[in-house]
Amino acid sequence: MKIRIGHLYPEYLNIYADRGNIAVFARRAGLRGHELEVTPISVGDEVRPGEHDLLYIGGGQDREQALIAPDLAARREAVREAVAGGAALLAVCGGYQLMGRGYRGRHGDDMPGVGLFGHETFAGERRMIGDVLLDCELEPGRRRTLAGFENHAGRTRLDADAAALGRVVAGYGNDGESGDEGCRLGRAIGTYLHGPLLPRNPWLADWLLAQALAHATGGEPPELEPLPDALEARAHAVSAQRARDRGGRF
Ligand code: GLN
Repeated sequence: MKIRIGHLYPEYLNIYADRGNIAVFARRAGLRGHELEVTPISVGDEVRPGEHDLLYIGGGQDREQALIAPDLAARREAVREAVAGGAALLAVCGGYQLMGRGYRGRHGDDMPGVGLFGHETFAGERRMIGDVLLDCELEPGRRRTLAGFENHAGRTRLDADAAALGRVVAGYGNDGESGDEGCRLGRAIGTYLHGPLLPRNPWLADWLLAQALAHATGGEPPELEPLPDALEARAHAVSAQRARDRGGRF
């Protein structure tokens, strides 16, 4: 199968080499005989619902976010329609913030968001920086951990009816208080975790690929053939231990 990825604002939002997540998708799809087609979607480009099996947006500094936020907000309906139509989505940090209703940055600038996720973000005084470990249950009864690195001033508050991606085991997460990290809406995932996220969390890469394949085929997410992930497991273990050692509170 061909898996079509729409990469939003790749030249603006790529802090901590977030595009490494795309490299993971390409490699893991290729090893299962699938082809990845990655299309950049930047300022002035249309998002056409149905044309992408997965939308990806990385993180960035307030400055870069402010440059693209009005353009992204103008595509709000299209992004929401794409996800409502079954496309998967992965949004990291700055991109995650802008998938909510909006972000008020460190210097008071109000950036409009897409309103896909039920959350709002306001920058605080101190940045939340360090390794993070999460406990996730994307499917009932199937608990798995995610390890990554966070660096954000934004405090994200989820609406009462919005679901977090996971519970913080160590680190700050959405706001350093609630114990929530990220947001999940069907096949859409938002998170503060960089690293990049996917090289040390291959199960999430495969979960997203399976969701994207389901969109491409119109069927159920397939079971992907397991890969020998010894190096990935080591990277995850090192990262998880760093997060545990740190604890992660102000
Ligand atoms: N600029 C945003 C913040 O500081 C997002 C940072 C990021 O993407 N790492 O909260």
